Amino acid sequence: MSETTGTPALIGLPYDGGSSFLRGAAEAPPLIREALRSPASNAWSETGVDLGAPGVLHDAGDVRLESADSVREEIERAIGRLLDEGFRPLALGGDHSVTYPVLRAVRRSHPRLTVLHVDAHADLYEEYEGDRHSHACPFARVMEEGLADRLVQVGIRTLNGHQREQAERYGVEVYDMLRWAAGERPVVEGPVYLSLDLDGLDPAFAPGVSHREPGGLTVREVIMLVQGVPGPLVGADVVELNPRRDLDGVTATVAAKLVKEIAARMVAG
Ligand code: MN
Ligand code: MN
Repeated sequence: MSETTGTPALIGLPYDGGSSFLRGAAEAPPLIREALRSPASNAWSETGVDLGAPGVLHDAGDVRLESADSVREEIERAIGRLLDEGFRPLALGGDHSVTYPVLRAVRRSHPRLTVLHVDAHADLYEEYEGDRHSHACPFARVMEEGLADRLVQVGIRTLNGHQREQAERYGVEVYDMLRWAAGERPVVEGPVYLSLDLDGLDPAFAPGVSHREPGGLTVREVIMLVQGVPGPLVGADVVELNPRRDLDGVTATVAAKLVKEIAARMVAG
């Protein structure tokens, strides 16, 4: 470990080969960075952390993902390197298939780990259209490999019979939108990894996603969830921004806002 211990580090994962419906998520990382640095806002989180101050938020750039055959190994290796250097990875997707190799790396450093997963979809398919590494499947892989002690899902509103069975099989704690709307909230304890699929938000707030699913979370609800995560928040991803579907960059701005609050939560411990 070095003096970087605990410092959040952005790392772009420009991959959308796991997408079942539309490509485009691979183009997201530079647009999230651009929104993050836009002079339309400033670098302070709502909680009072200046992410623009020297050394507060590292940027490790984008991982070069050149071969579809080795993409998961390359992601796992890049995240492992960041962790070895003492950083907390804050990955910018890419589609949601990137979360499985990220968590393989994170799990090695964290024998206790709760994964908090925000999404319209449970992403628990055993396989999807013949692909076990589709963005519809990452949390089935995570649970079958024991990469999380608890998987807590929020924002879910698309469960079918198969995914309900999978959730039961793997002991997933699903706070779907019915429960959320009834006021139920999960209680988690650290260390926490946060996986944030932007389609967990209502498409009114975040239209720039491949799978728009009405009836989702507000930006404020997700910010409150992020700010309320018990520490340590040891890693996170923000995935599924599809710039080809965005309207005037509004979803990139939402992604950047959430990245700021996540990074600030990491800085807080
Ligand atoms: Mn997802
Ligand atoms: Mn989703």
